[in-house]
Amino acid sequence: MIHVLEKEVADKIATGEVIERPLSIVKELVENSIDAGARSITVEIKKGGKNYIRVTDDGCGIKSDEVEIAFLRHATSKISRAKDLESIETLGFRGEALASIAAVSRTEIITKTAEEKAGTRLVIEGSSIAEREATGCPGGTTIVVRDLFYNTPARRKFMKSDAGESSAVIEFVSQISLAYPHLRIRMISNGNMLFSTPGKGDRYKNILTVFSRELGDGLIPVQAEEGNLRLEGYISNPGESRATRKQQIFFVNGRVVDSKVIQKGISQAYADKLFEGRFPIAFLFLAIRPDSLDVNIHPNKREIRFNDEDFVTEFIRKSLREALLSKESIPEVKEKMLFRRPFPEPTAAKRESAAPEPVAAADKIEAEVPPEEEQVNIKKLLSNIRNEEDRREPELREAVAEYQVKPSPEADIFVESSETILPKTPAPFDFDELTITGSIFGTYITAVDESCFYLIDQHAAHERIFFEKLMRQYRQSETYCQPVMLPITLNVSYDVAESQDDWVLHLNKMGFQAEVFGPRTYRIKGIPAFMELEEAERFLKDFTEQAAAGTKIDNLPAIEKIIMRSCKSAVKAHDYLKDEEIRSLFEELKQCENPFSCPHGRPTFIKMTQYEIEKMFKRV
Ligand code: ADP
Ligand code: MG
Repeated sequence: MIHVLEKEVADKIATGEVIERPLSIVKELVENSIDAGARSITVEIKKGGKNYIRVTDDGCGIKSDEVEIAFLRHATSKISRAKDLESIETLGFRGEALASIAAVSRTEIITKTAEEKAGTRLVIEGSSIAEREATGCPGGTTIVVRDLFYNTPARRKFMKSDAGESSAVIEFVSQISLAYPHLRIRMISNGNMLFSTPGKGDRYKNILTVFSRELGDGLIPVQAEEGNLRLEGYISNPGESRATRKQQIFFVNGRVVDSKVIQKGISQAYADKLFEGRFPIAFLFLAIRPDSLDVNIHPNKREIRFNDEDFVTEFIRKSLREALLSKESIPEVKEKMLFRRPFPEPTAAKRESAAPEPVAAADKIEAEVPPEEEQVNIKKLLSNIRNEEDRREPELREAVAEYQVKPSPEADIFVESSETILPKTPAPFDFDELTITGSIFGTYITAVDESCFYLIDQHAAHERIFFEKLMRQYRQSETYCQPVMLPITLNVSYDVAESQDDWVLHLNKMGFQAEVFGPRTYRIKGIPAFMELEEAERFLKDFTEQAAAGTKIDNLPAIEKIIMRSCKSAVKAHDYLKDEEIRSLFEELKQCENPFSCPHGRPTFIKMTQYEIEKMFKRV
């Protein structure tokens, strides 16, 4: 039952204006449709949604005698007591959206519950009811919002161009389709169907449908569970990074959210795999018990607060880390990189107009995803819209026209598998399956396993081993030191000598034997057992320089950073390695926590699958 919240409850809800632009309206309406149990949702906009927004669902509908109430402020059917705010399981709960939308536009609603014979049609203009009638319509709700801000012209100025607004809406609907793979979601803009998801529960397929095939191709599945957290998703292998975080999309209990806590977990997982300023792609779907979470922080509900933030960060880090150790995470060379084709030209397809669609509840057309080759790269289109203004739209329309929906023989059938198709958990990489076949250019080792050919950068591998051994010794303070015949004399500048109390100790923890020999001179009588003499000398030089650079070495991450930097030039560039040397390199790499990249983020491995090789030779 829809009722107006008591004042004490209403006062506890984060308030503020939520309707700023077409996106806000689409977001509120789509969330309402999801809360109403819809299986199928259509979003249609014209001119970026400024003049026309339609959201149609096949959800529970609103009873005739409650329609007006739904438009009152603080009217909701989702919560009633303040206590309910502690465990919100619906997307909406503020009871303000419909009221706010109706106040700034001409809003029309057509709705019918399953029990009622006739539906209700209501037109509201700037909060007052302009029309009301009974009407025949299918079960569900359609809301049309016309002429946004017609009565508050000052607010029109704050909207972006039509293209900018539609791109924001499309982006949101794309994200929602990933979060709700069991729903059929259709996006229509200016009469063109942009995409339509099959609603079969397959998130991965939806990524390919809504974003692009190229993007989906290199993704590694993630799946993990711990305590009251469950994570599912897809992340890019470190070879596929981006310059911004734009392609990191997070869902928490079905809500698209911004979360520094999740971001941090991702950064930590990729810490030594990516160069600074590069970001992985991540689609993460996190489920958490509602009482471990506060969504009532900001009126737009994009911000959330986890009760135990560190636990969430660590859970994300661990789960992603595990996925990154799988074979899938080794950067892959592909045929299409060699013969890169330009973005396929849209063929002159017949344009499908969505115009004749009745404004009525959910149309039960089962969307069929076009064959992959035909799929228009929506992401590309999106960036086109972003970059170019409306003048590009005819071209855009041509392109998306290919992406039409064909009614399938299964139309009307709502059978769905009740289980989400989960990503298959990737198997961890198995070093023992590798056969070493040789080395080339005195630099790369070649190896194969059942399905792939690998190139391993021996220098990067050495750096990784060197770094991890040193860190291990440091952490365990169980050092293996070898005495050197002629002690190494280390002369440093005054500022470095000044902070000797700090760094001499650290060196000794790593397995050096360093002692003060003069005002600016130190004598190194022993070095870590695994190091060669020249490596030790170069390392010491770099390490002391780093210490002078003013970095305070007072915690593990700080020392790790300095060691990481100092390994860079220290590790000797070996030429052709003998067979036993290669084997022992592999043995040591296998022991590493993170064998697939050097400490500075360069890959140690790249792979080509047998299939890709066969493709290049045009055998398949
Ligand atoms: P809230 O979602 O926070 O409850 P809204 O203003 O968005 O507030 O909606 C008010 C009420 O109207 C909802 O609680 C719900 O009962 C009803 N409602 C809104 N949209 C729909 C819909 N698409 N289908 C069924 N009921 C709806
Ligand atoms: Mg709502």
